[in-house]
Amino acid sequence: MKTVRLRAAAKINLYLEILGVRPDNFHELVMVLQSIDLADTVTLRAAPTTGVRCSHPLVPTDRTNLALRAVEVLQKHTGIDEGVEIVIEKRIPVASGLAGGSTDAAAVLVGLNALWDLGLTQGQLQSLGAQIGSDIPFCVIGGTALAMGRGEVLSALPALQGVYLVLAKIADLQVSTAWAYQTYRREHLGAVAAPRARTSALLSAVASREVARIAPLLHNDLERAVLPAHPQVSALRERLAVAGALGAMMSGSGPSVFGLASDRAHAEAICAALAEDPSLELFVCQTQQAGILFAESQPSSL
Ligand code: ATP
Repeated sequence: MKTVRLRAAAKINLYLEILGVRPDNFHELVMVLQSIDLADTVTLRAAPTTGVRCSHPLVPTDRTNLALRAVEVLQKHTGIDEGVEIVIEKRIPVASGLAGGSTDAAAVLVGLNALWDLGLTQGQLQSLGAQIGSDIPFCVIGGTALAMGRGEVLSALPALQGVYLVLAKIADLQVSTAWAYQTYRREHLGAVAAPRARTSALLSAVASREVARIAPLLHNDLERAVLPAHPQVSALRERLAVAGALGAMMSGSGPSVFGLASDRAHAEAICAALAEDPSLELFVCQTQQAGILFAESQPSSL
């Protein structure tokens, strides 16, 4: 039975600025996106019918699952109507601003390209992914990138590999991406001058690969929507800073927050400072230069 198994990386936003609302109702964005080594495992196996199973109870198994949408888009594009069983081992916190669903969908595109021997280019997979969600083109390639448009217009940035960070999330809190954008739009868009000058400073800091230069330049407009509604997220961000993070910020639409560290020992010390709080999910992570990776060991059975 043909099977492929992939590691689908989460992303964090080092920068997220909302420039405005476009005629198509999407937001015009400037983002700096970075893959991290926290990953779901996505296994694809040829099957008579298509379906998805996931280890996490909050992940839908109907066609709203982005992994199933990826199968549909590929089937439509290629005319192939073979079935595939998808098994997602979820490690990326759900609805947390880490692109968990998007990276699963990206893994399905990359994995089916191999399983069905389609020969599609990375660019073609990214275009198909953009039909499903704005973060998916980045998730296909991963690494370090400047994202513009609605997030799908990507330029590679110098690789920011091996930077340690602590990712922290209040375990039972999820935030809807749509709610975060709508709230920002209602309460802030057009009202305040955006800090556009910081993009170029951040880009040169990323090119220098110096975490201490990057840390003070982290920025996320969506904090202004999410933090007032969830003061415990604001407090968590502050706790990361007090624990010694070089810079701390919410990722994407939250509510996960991350703190940058100078090395692994520093990240572990920050993590240890928060570890006694049972309401938190904590991860020591590293930045990485790939989005989707084929797992080295293929499963013997599912
Ligand atoms: P993003 O950062 O791309 O906005 P997110 O990380 O905030 O996304 P996800 O983990 O992708 O959020 O989940 C958002 C919602 O998408 C979930 O509440 C869930 O209902 C739905 N969803 C669909 N497919 C998946 C999937 N494969 N994994 C997780 N959630 C999924």
